[in-house]
Amino acid sequence: MRTSFHPRLINDPFCDPGLFIAFSHQRRAILFDLGDLHALAPRDLVKVFHVFVSHTHMDHFIGFDALLRALLGRDKEIHLFGPQEFFDRVEGKLAGYTWNLVDEYEYPLSLKVTEVGTEKIKTRRYLCRDRFARAETEEEAPFTGLLLKEPSFEVAAALLDHRVPCLAFALQERFSINIDKEKLKDLDLPVGPWLGRFKRALYDQQNPEDVFEVTWEQRGRVIKARAFVLGELAQEIARISPGQKIAYVTDAAGRPENLEKAERLIRNADSLYIEAAFLDRDLEIAEKKCHLTAKQAGTLARKAGVKRLTLFHFSPRYAGMAQELEREATEAFNCKQ
Ligand SMILES: [Zn+2]
Ligand SMILES: [Zn+2]
Repeated sequence: MRTSFHPRLINDPFCDPGLFIAFSHQRRAILFDLGDLHALAPRDLVKVFHVFVSHTHMDHFIGFDALLRALLGRDKEIHLFGPQEFFDRVEGKLAGYTWNLVDEYEYPLSLKVTEVGTEKIKTRRYLCRDRFARAETEEEAPFTGLLLKEPSFEVAAALLDHRVPCLAFALQERFSINIDKEKLKDLDLPVGPWLGRFKRALYDQQNPEDVFEVTWEQRGRVIKARAFVLGELAQEIARISPGQKIAYVTDAAGRPENLEKAERLIRNADSLYIEAAFLDRDLEIAEKKCHLTAKQAGTLARKAGVKRLTLFHFSPRYAGMAQELEREATEAFNCKQ
């Protein structure tokens, strides 16, 4: 299956957590968690528009500065989501720097920050040109489990317990549009930015009778265009398949109510990225530190009907023993019961 989203762990499973999800045919990406981001190139960081932070323990939030550094002076708005006390944590970060010259910047960066509570989600804005002072207005909405809804995908969250509230996330694509490259060749059509527009038109359920212009571009300039009826073009070149689901679970106590909540969120995910901090033989430590064991991670994935499992957030005590963690999780995942 050709996919529209390309998730990859930013670091080695023994290092800070973080999942970078790039979009096909778009200069756009999503981040789950903000651990150490140095492995991401600046060209990747500038693609980020939405950041979902599980909680603000240092290993999940230290990358905030690196992201802000890469985006400063750009004309864009970044939307960050995090759990309880997220405003305080973000404001604390922003208060750590001097901002007296930012009003000179030609392009104003703006941060939209959403704090997710059990009942409500609240959103505040921080503008670079106002030296990131909190804007006066605050929006409030009930927390329905859904954090972001766009025509082509949505991101849902569950609040898990890690002795502090910790968010787990699931990105669900509505449906996937793949382009038949052979058909493009047959019709003498180029691969180009128009494909992004074309997919958006389908996700937006634009009238199939509408005229759609395929454009040939050179260095960002349209040099030729050809008109099609949208529905007819879709019939020719678009292949629709079920959407992809990518889930991310980290720093969760292995208690039954937590596991049930996580299971509901990640049900039938195509890809699950999940922490496996400890081996089952160290269950007592895992419980004390409110983390999952590899066995719990594998069992949860199996119960939720997940298709592919990727582990991360290994405790440093298992340096050189990654295979043991992998083996334990895989056994629980494949176990027939
Ligand atoms: Zn933590
Ligand atoms: Zn952690």
